[in-house]
Amino acid sequence: MQHLDTYKTKGLRKALVEGLKNKGIASTSVLSSIEKIPRHLFIDSSFLEFAYQDRPFPIGEGQTISQPFTVAKQTELLQVKPKEKILEIGTGSGYQASVLVELGAKVFTIERHRNLFLKTKELLKNLKYNAKCFYGDGYAGLPNFAPFDKIIVTCGAPFVPEALKEQLKIGGIMVIPEGEDVQKMNVYTKLSDTEFSCEEHGDFRFVPMLESRK
Ligand code: SAH
Repeated sequence: MQHLDTYKTKGLRKALVEGLKNKGIASTSVLSSIEKIPRHLFIDSSFLEFAYQDRPFPIGEGQTISQPFTVAKQTELLQVKPKEKILEIGTGSGYQASVLVELGAKVFTIERHRNLFLKTKELLKNLKYNAKCFYGDGYAGLPNFAPFDKIIVTCGAPFVPEALKEQLKIGGIMVIPEGEDVQKMNVYTKLSDTEFSCEEHGDFRFVPMLESRK
């Protein structure tokens, strides 16, 4: 595994961050995490240039690494603070998980595709982004590690899974794209065991959150 980060990739990343600022990302901690993380190591090495365009990109198994703007927006909405325990649904390439680790969070991430789970677990270990990777179904969350300060869902959810509502701390935030073809980026705050407030933050497109494993 090459850990190559060159002048060129650093330069491309700087330009990407400028682009994200222009698109309205304001959090300096989120922007500096994106500037630090070599996104090209999370996709196939023959597509280096694509890693720093603001687009999603295929990562195998019919899945994609989310567009940088989407990662930046979801992370900003999550208002991450160091030491927070965060659950991610949809590990995929591991890039979003690495951004959360870079921000100082304790990250737990679930992936339902076994090959992606195995590949990404190894990659994150090699890159020393110490997220805890789990192979399983995001609809069930991780009851043994709950409650979480924050939950981030990175696939399009048809509804908010009940288990995830339960596994969020009171006062905690869940960022979840909800809908079928196009998703609304919804931010829920847990007010009590049974009450949530919800804010909507625009339209996004994600690969679907699927119920049963392949
Ligand atoms: N956060 C990822 C985005 C990957 S795309 C990244 O930074 O690259 C969304 C991922 O969610 C896919 O890998 C898909 O396999 C996974 N996924 C879909 N339904 C799921 C479920 N029910 N549980 C866990 N993961 C799921």
